[in-house]
Amino acid sequence: MKKRFCILIEDDWEVLGNGLGNVAQLQYLPSLYFMKLARRLGINLTFMVEVAQQLEYIKVLDSDYNLRVQKNLWDDNIRLMAEYGFDVQLHLHPQWFKAENKDGYFYLRDNWNIGRYDQSVQHELITKSVSYLEQLVKPIKPDYKVVAYKGGSWGLQPSNTLLQELDKAGIKIVMGVRKGMALPGNGVDYMEVEETVMPYSPDYEDLRKVDTKKNNISVIPLQPYSPGPVPLGSFVYRLMKSKVNPLDPMRHFYDQPVPEKVKALSPFNNESKLKFGLKPYTTHLKIGNQPFTYLKSSIDSVLGNLKKTPYERIPVLIECHTKQYPQYYNDIEKFLGYIQDKYGNEVEFKTLSAFAKELDENPSLVKVKK
Ligand SMILES: [Zn+2]
Repeated sequence: MKKRFCILIEDDWEVLGNGLGNVAQLQYLPSLYFMKLARRLGINLTFMVEVAQQLEYIKVLDSDYNLRVQKNLWDDNIRLMAEYGFDVQLHLHPQWFKAENKDGYFYLRDNWNIGRYDQSVQHELITKSVSYLEQLVKPIKPDYKVVAYKGGSWGLQPSNTLLQELDKAGIKIVMGVRKGMALPGNGVDYMEVEETVMPYSPDYEDLRKVDTKKNNISVIPLQPYSPGPVPLGSFVYRLMKSKVNPLDPMRHFYDQPVPEKVKALSPFNNESKLKFGLKPYTTHLKIGNQPFTYLKSSIDSVLGNLKKTPYERIPVLIECHTKQYPQYYNDIEKFLGYIQDKYGNEVEFKTLSAFAKELDENPSLVKVKK
């Protein structure tokens, strides 16, 4: 008998959205910590790796030895994930597409939503990335396939050509949708989503809607979470108390001043910052720079709500950001241990590849409009 909750930890593995940061600092070391911890606890993880960055790094290897070091570390980091038994799946930040490389910096695009690119660009990014990952992982896991996609900056709209291209590339699971999220500067509008709990078969024309037929792709929604004053307060307090990071990639680029144009690059214009208003602040399950009090309250609240639903088998996505982990390692360890102690009888941890297989074997888990 399967446990009721299937926790899917997906880690968005990347440098900063404006291209700043170093693979060793923001990707390799924190992911190594996360992998060692997960192995010790017996927890399955999926790394959603951002490949568009790597497709640009490989173009300048001959002229920039520093980038060559990072490119090689990135490749070996993927091999290590596979070697340790973790899943590796696809995440794309299309702002990297044909970025300009000048004076040691990449100048990325201000469109961070892959849905808003031409179909030909979507096609190129997806197919090149899938083969890049398969060529790295197949020697270690011969049956490896890229089957899951997480939209960079949650951008998946408009969805029609994007879902067609993902479908053609063999993708079965798409993530990034959460009811109530809107980032107008990035073209994201999930104010109305027809399904908020279970995987659903999306209408390719508008992935917020449930289709009347079962498509190859299923959307797994992020379940909403509204932190109360205690967890929110603990989060803000901890942020204020954090030590200044001497290697903060926004302030220091390893001994070079960062150009203002690079620093300022963001389509969000403060949208992603916390807003306090009359409506409760809504987000979703995350692991990144949250203290234990916050993390504990988030899982208690989401599982508490899900227990009131009639479903017997529910996937629960936790979105993680490796690059935010330093200074929060103890909180993360305590949190994962807490889930195992308190919910051990009701939860199991699966990779996205394993869950894609489960959906194949049990298509009734995917909602279709009657
Ligand atoms: Zn990302």
